[in-house]
Amino acid sequence: SAQLIDGKARAAAIREHIKQQVTERLAQGKRAPGLAVILVGSDPASQVYVSHKRKDCEQVGFVSRAYDLPSDTSQAELLALIDTLNQDNEIDGILVQLPLPAGLNADEILERISPSKDVDGFHPFNIGRLAQRMPLLRPCTPAGIVDLLDTTGEPVRGQHAVIVGASNIVGRPMSLELLLKGCTVTTCHRFTHNLEYFVSQADIVVVAVGKPGLVKGEWIKPGAVVVDVGINRQEDGTLIGDVEFEVAAQRASHITPVPGGVGPMTRAKLLENTLESCNNRD
Ligand code: NAD
Repeated sequence: SAQLIDGKARAAAIREHIKQQVTERLAQGKRAPGLAVILVGSDPASQVYVSHKRKDCEQVGFVSRAYDLPSDTSQAELLALIDTLNQDNEIDGILVQLPLPAGLNADEILERISPSKDVDGFHPFNIGRLAQRMPLLRPCTPAGIVDLLDTTGEPVRGQHAVIVGASNIVGRPMSLELLLKGCTVTTCHRFTHNLEYFVSQADIVVVAVGKPGLVKGEWIKPGAVVVDVGINRQEDGTLIGDVEFEVAAQRASHITPVPGGVGPMTRAKLLENTLESCNNRD
């Protein structure tokens, strides 16, 4: 049965490395990297994600600035805050936690963030750089997955990668990242006919949909690498992914658990992006 891809351990190693680099910066008389995390409203899942990101910052020695704004914050107020943070010399990264409350235009807000401080990698400039094979700040979840694939020791170049899901934050940039790695890429989404057929052809499968059990274990080609991005909360409070884990793990060569696979890597890549942005600003 499959080897587990330990995202939690890999993320801890990345954080340790970042912490060392922050220590070196301080020893050289440079400032610590600074991340501004903006939360609008009180979505419970968003509150959890934001508190993790702030805790991660503290752990590696970053300055974390919290902006907790009421759900009736206007578009203009949010844009004004981003304009201020774009000019702030102590801030290297600006993160707006999604989803935003109804009535706010997320696209306009994300596009207002200076591309050099866009540590989520969602700005059209950074997506365009990735699409043209000159990535700068990369979306965190796909970048974390590429890192995990590299740790498996399995070949990536030339492999058939099938991505299930085509969102702006995961599926689409994942397809661009794997194209950059030299995979033959198939992107599946809600309009795909015969999902089983494509998944069963894959040497590498990345599933980012948000539907538990969407990808059946029997679909997995023996020896494939399976990455499950889905996070679904069950009635008992526990989390599961989008892939039927037990059966898939019988067939795959490597598989990510949920939790403890992709999630911690997303957080680690956010820290890497913030450090990179800070180094670029010296
Ligand atoms: P989204 O809702 O924006 O996008 C879902 C995608 O799945 C869409 O492209 C849609 O076309 C596709 N889809 C829907 N039904 C489908 C079907 N039956 N067959 C094939 N494709 C289908 O979601 P998202 O923001 O990309 O997130 C996806 C999942 O990943 C969620 O569970 C989310 O919680 C999780 N997530 C995890 C992390 C992490 O760090 N682990 C980060 C972001 C998102």
